Amino acid sequence: MRIVFLGAPGVGKGTQADRIAAQFKIAKISTGDLLREAVRNQTELGREAKQYMDQGQLVPDAVVIGLVRVKLQEPASANGFVLDGFPRTVPQAEELGRVLQTAQRPLHRVVNFQVPREDVVRRLTGRRSCPKCQTTFHTEFAPSKTGNACDRCGETLVQRSDDTREAIETRLQVYEEQTAPLIQYYARKRLLSELDASGSVDAVFEALFGVLAPFSAI
Ligand code: AMP
Repeated sequence: MRIVFLGAPGVGKGTQADRIAAQFKIAKISTGDLLREAVRNQTELGREAKQYMDQGQLVPDAVVIGLVRVKLQEPASANGFVLDGFPRTVPQAEELGRVLQTAQRPLHRVVNFQVPREDVVRRLTGRRSCPKCQTTFHTEFAPSKTGNACDRCGETLVQRSDDTREAIETRLQVYEEQTAPLIQYYARKRLLSELDASGSVDAVFEALFGVLAPFSAI
């Protein structure tokens, strides 16, 4: 199963990608996660990417395309993959199309997650994560039992450096300008499924499962 999750920041793509990857035994390829890992490890790529990420801007296409190419070739992706946060621009989508066509592994579906803008801002500002084990929490919707420490490993939770109000505004604007055109792009290719992602994590997963299950035998 080869799928793409499309949608604004904060619509829950990452959370659902984790669950779908586990359910269908496919790889989750999240460019945001890969970039944050590079930032944590202070690699050259990470240092370059951080300037863009902290401001809520997109990292240059060539950088993210390079990361995804490597991941698609790994054995972990042989059984399929869910791309979370990639592609985010038309040139990225075109390059992805070329890479998958060459490998004779075309996409099966692109799911567009839809959530009202007010909810997106609420989801993003309350988001917290554990810097040690990467478990995610939400101050309102999925709070940690102890308040500010990770339920799993006890580490103090942190807020992503791009989950500030200012960066969130920029990210939503960047989404509208550069990523939203992909909805039409994939609709024209007859690959798009719309998903109401405004419900609970379980409700959205159930709806998503319904969309994707027909492709699981492929
Ligand atoms: P995310 O975790 O998907 O919200 O991504 C966090 C940040 O990483 C974004 O705001 C961008 O700066 C960068 N990023 C992630 N994926 C991409 C991509 N496909 N193209 C460009 N920048 C990206």
